[in-house]
Amino acid sequence: MRVVCLDMEGVLAPEIWVEFAKRVDIDALRRTTRDEPDYDRLMTFRLRELRQHGLGLPDIQKVIADMGPMPGARAFLDGLREHYQLIILSDTFYEFAQPLMRQLNWPTLFCHSLETDAQGFVVNYRLRLPNQKQEAVRRLKELNFRVVAAGDSYNDTAMLGEAHGGILFCPPENVVREFPQFPVVTDYAALRAEIDAAFLRAA
Ligand SMILES: [Mg+2]
Repeated sequence: MRVVCLDMEGVLAPEIWVEFAKRVDIDALRRTTRDEPDYDRLMTFRLRELRQHGLGLPDIQKVIADMGPMPGARAFLDGLREHYQLIILSDTFYEFAQPLMRQLNWPTLFCHSLETDAQGFVVNYRLRLPNQKQEAVRRLKELNFRVVAAGDSYNDTAMLGEAHGGILFCPPENVVREFPQFPVVTDYAALRAEIDAAFLRAA
């Protein structure tokens, strides 16, 4: 009764906004929570930029489909799913993730959602639950699952701490320094080995 919870961006796929900004060459969309810590203001700004550049959801999805998941991600997930239940816990939106999920063979994804108007422009976003990554792990534990989680960044550390085992995948240096309690891996083979080891320890 074991569940693996994985972050998506930075683990299975590129950072969507960063990669998207590069591909459509809109500098303003490179802005992240580091530049604008108020998430609502950041999202409002992003949605306005998309509209101003005439980019509706179908255009955005096409760019994301071309982006694709990271090399080896699909095989890694297929292998994991033979042995464990898998849930991807991400702070992205279903509508953005859809082209990536297709390429990853439709794993289970818990994230947020977008609202579009009749012309296909994204007009709003809906966060399903605050701190949903950590909350999901907490509730899986209440359902008597053993949980091992992996992610790459700050917004994953509460989830990693909540799980029976937490693993950092290709994290930035400052996250490694600040969270020395989590093992660090940099490729899928090592991540799989660390997941297996974490479940053995948590048995
Ligand atoms: Mg991430």
